[in-house]
Amino acid sequence: MLEYSPMFAGYFRDFVDVIFPPRCFICEKKTNTEIICVECKEKIKPLTPPLCRLCSREMREKDTYICNNCLKKKVSYDRVISCFIYDEPLKNLIHLAKYKYYDYIMKFLSLMMIKHISKLNFSFADYNLIVSVPSHPLRLREREYNQSIILAENASKFLKIPFKNGIIYCKKYRPSQSSLKKETRLKNVKNNFSVKEDLTGKNIIIVDDVATTGSTLSECAKALKERGANKVLGLTLAKTQ
Ligand SMILES: [Zn+2]
Ligand SMILES: [Zn+2]
Repeated sequence: MLEYSPMFAGYFRDFVDVIFPPRCFICEKKTNTEIICVECKEKIKPLTPPLCRLCSREMREKDTYICNNCLKKKVSYDRVISCFIYDEPLKNLIHLAKYKYYDYIMKFLSLMMIKHISKLNFSFADYNLIVSVPSHPLRLREREYNQSIILAENASKFLKIPFKNGIIYCKKYRPSQSSLKKETRLKNVKNNFSVKEDLTGKNIIIVDDVATTGSTLSECAKALKERGANKVLGLTLAKTQ
């Protein structure tokens, strides 16, 4: 009979590694610790302050709070914090993470997001509810799920602020924002969100995976405020440039 000894455990691990060597999801190089190697992880660029308060664009001057682009826009949220630049290899990882069987990629990315926000000089103490941007059920094809929920759940655990799923819902089925040109995105989501409960006096963090024009966040914030929300902060893993 084989005895389970630490030595055997070591052999067993080597044996498993030979058959299923842990490989970087991006470059397939061997990696022991995480789902991507150190080099690929370094290619994921954080958005570092000073940042525009309404879109997280990197700013040159410390004392300017809102970028020229946002000065021209009217948005319903009060602030946006995006963590990383939406570029390769992050783009690819977010795309893969849409599939349920790759949900661990989104778990990994949510840890990166948490690590990033913990280093920002920003207090989340005023906020008392976390929600996520909804996906219309018809948009989720087979084997897909709303990956923003994983980001919201992990942000909730880290910030110790409750997360409530399903607070915002889509009224109608509309094409996915990523399939549309920038100019038509606002029209596509305009007035398409509704909120299920009274949120009087709540300060809310709304979580999404990628922010592009901010239209979805703004329309969700509008719906939250229509039900009494006081302050709305958008928190996204990535931001397109
Ligand atoms: Zn790699
Ligand atoms: Zn801006």
